[in-house]
Amino acid sequence: MTRLITDVAEAAALLRAGELVAFPTETVYGLGADAQNGRAVAGIFAAKGRPQFNPLICHFASAEAAFAEVVADDRARQLARRFWPGPLTLVLPRRPTSQVDLLAGAGLDTLAVRVPGHPLALELMRLVDRPVAAPSANRSGQVSPTTAQHVLEGLSGRIAAVLDGPPSEVGVESTVLDLAAGGAALLRPGGVPVEAIEAAVGPVGRPLPLAAAAATRSLRSPGMLLSHYAPRLPVRLEAQEVAPEEALLAFGPHPLPGAGTMWNLSPAGDLQQAAARLFAGLRWLDAEGARLGLWGIAAMPVPGHGLGAAIQDRLTRAAAPRDS
Ligand code: AMP
Ligand code: MG
Repeated sequence: MTRLITDVAEAAALLRAGELVAFPTETVYGLGADAQNGRAVAGIFAAKGRPQFNPLICHFASAEAAFAEVVADDRARQLARRFWPGPLTLVLPRRPTSQVDLLAGAGLDTLAVRVPGHPLALELMRLVDRPVAAPSANRSGQVSPTTAQHVLEGLSGRIAAVLDGPPSEVGVESTVLDLAAGGAALLRPGGVPVEAIEAAVGPVGRPLPLAAAAATRSLRSPGMLLSHYAPRLPVRLEAQEVAPEEALLAFGPHPLPGAGTMWNLSPAGDLQQAAARLFAGLRWLDAEGARLGLWGIAAMPVPGHGLGAAIQDRLTRAAAPRDS
């Protein structure tokens, strides 16, 4: 049963215990999880029924807390002073010391961070005192919720609680600005107009129109789509046996015999655990494989239901042919 609660301390305690809690922000209601807890983060994708692991925004009580997880340059600090708390998300290089689970960032070397403007959300972040990963609190494919009632309509029975609050005032998601690649690029228009950002820090690159983007090389290479982390070693899907030169990405109680280097996503065959261990596993196999001079990664089949669909999607991207 999903409970509608009004006590922000209770919401914080649930989040710290690894539960999923929806909470009001000024943009839309967010579906929060402890970003350091891979199982809880995997729960977000399961509850939303998301068929893909896209990177989630991490929420903080202050710029100082956010910049403990990412490397902020002068522009980032300036934008934080000008627009936080508020509907602006900054994508910045992740610190090597960051404890944010890899699944929350979809395995990328960057993290999206934000300090929400809503007083209840801020109080919640302060009490949780850890990064909180939160996409919009709706089922995948449905519109973003701006009231607690909307959240319950979509997610009742799938999450622990909804922290009740007033309707979201902004009603659209945060503006997402990528500062990690040198320049400043708008990844998603949102609550802070791009003109206001440009007034603060100068020109911002706009996203390519879809047709132009489709013609670029990056989109023709599905392995790099959305510039997701892709292992350097080739990935072979649906493996029924493993070669001596291959590392094994296993799933379930019966890993293929003969693998010298193996990462089991979930010995118990649990898809939520597998999701939580996927990006860490790919990185580890990639590094171990390179160290040992292996030729590739053999991935055992993973069932396609529930989170399995997102795991398969990610593995298919990792296995897609690449130019280099
Ligand atoms: P939502 O799931 O509605 O919170 O949306 C999150 C948005 O932030 C999506 O458009 C993501 O693609 C984007 N995003 C989050 N993290 C990153 C990242 N590390 N790099 C690029 N985009 C990101
Ligand atoms: Mg959404």
